[in-house]
Amino acid sequence: MIGDLLITGIKNVRNIQQYIIGNGALSDLPNLLEMKRNQNNKVVFFIDEFYKDKNIEQRIGVQTNDKVIFISTHDEPTTGYIDSIIDLLKKQLTVNPVAVVGMGGGITMDTTKAVSNLLTNNGRAKDYQGWDLVKNPAVYKIAIPTISGTGAEATRTCVMTNQKTGLKLGMNSDYTVFDQIIMDPDLTITVPRNQYFYTGMDAYIHCIEALNGSYRNPIGDAYSAQTLSLCREIFFDDEMMSNENRSKLMVASYLGGCAIATSYVGVIHPFSAALSVVLGLHHCVANCITMRAMNEFYPDEYSEFWSMVEKQSIVVPIGVSANLTDEQFQQLYSAMIVHERPLTNALGNKFKSILTKNKVIELYMMM
Ligand code: NAD
Ligand code: ZN
Repeated sequence: MIGDLLITGIKNVRNIQQYIIGNGALSDLPNLLEMKRNQNNKVVFFIDEFYKDKNIEQRIGVQTNDKVIFISTHDEPTTGYIDSIIDLLKKQLTVNPVAVVGMGGGITMDTTKAVSNLLTNNGRAKDYQGWDLVKNPAVYKIAIPTISGTGAEATRTCVMTNQKTGLKLGMNSDYTVFDQIIMDPDLTITVPRNQYFYTGMDAYIHCIEALNGSYRNPIGDAYSAQTLSLCREIFFDDEMMSNENRSKLMVASYLGGCAIATSYVGVIHPFSAALSVVLGLHHCVANCITMRAMNEFYPDEYSEFWSMVEKQSIVVPIGVSANLTDEQFQQLYSAMIVHERPLTNALGNKFKSILTKNKVIELYMMM
């Protein structure tokens, strides 16, 4: 066995151990933690900055000795940022926490995953960017998604950018998978509309890429098909943020995450990742911007995507490459073409002859 691939080249898939879903499910958190707590060990909470000064500590049963770290969502996680949290925790804690809890969107959940791995594995975050490099099981971790779509609650990775090398890659490992998820659709009511759409669309995009790829998994296909069906119901509905639709999107996000854990993404994510690395655009809005140039690769989904944008009156930024220098286009090409697994999944192993530098620049000019 090589990592998650068996000698047959087939993936050995790990799913989340336990999940709870339902309105008000958040109030189960203190009881779940109580089962883990002991005399010496604390719980460390990573909470999206949106919840600062909103009395969240009381709602989720934070105790005196626990540690709460509010996570800024201004920038997506870098390896340096993860290392700085580890350094802080190692200074402040004498023993590892009994649990870590990540409450927020993909940024907060990925931070939680990376930190829980590094608490039990020596070294720095960059040492574990790749596939199956994490040696020891991580600290027990719980995810509480507060915005739906990335599927970060269900996947075996935590995306981080290494600012020195420009590499945007996560710790792909079975140890990265959360032990418990609490999905409470009440939490997503406060998400701004555009952001709800951008992040929700990540689930849609993961699944169109997976279903159009060549590395397929029959269970992954079923997860993808159901995710897409839910996304269509939600984003063609008059009120995409109704109670019912927010609940459906939480399911779609989870299923989309399970889908992607069995297969790979395609052309959209590499283009989007380069926009994040070079221009600092956030993942989900960068995906939507990338869709401007994807007619050639995903024609049916391209039309469907833009119909949903129109139906929901969403603003997708345009003109991001209008004033770029030749050097920046070169950087975009380099940061995009390194994503060999998804590009091979989408275009075969001759992907570099399809995505020549000129072609890639031409596509970026459409955004
Ligand atoms: P995010 O964490 O980037 O947050 C987006 C915004 O929504 C922030 O401003 C945040 O404060 C706000 N927000 C979150 N919940 C809210 C709520 N309930 N009410 C009001 N505002 C709220 O969100 P995202 O789009 O879920 O995550 C993107 C990140 O996920 C990127 O870093 C990306 O690389 C990562 N990602 C990870 C995986 C994975 O498998 N690990 C998959 C896809 C994307
Ligand atoms: Zn994504």
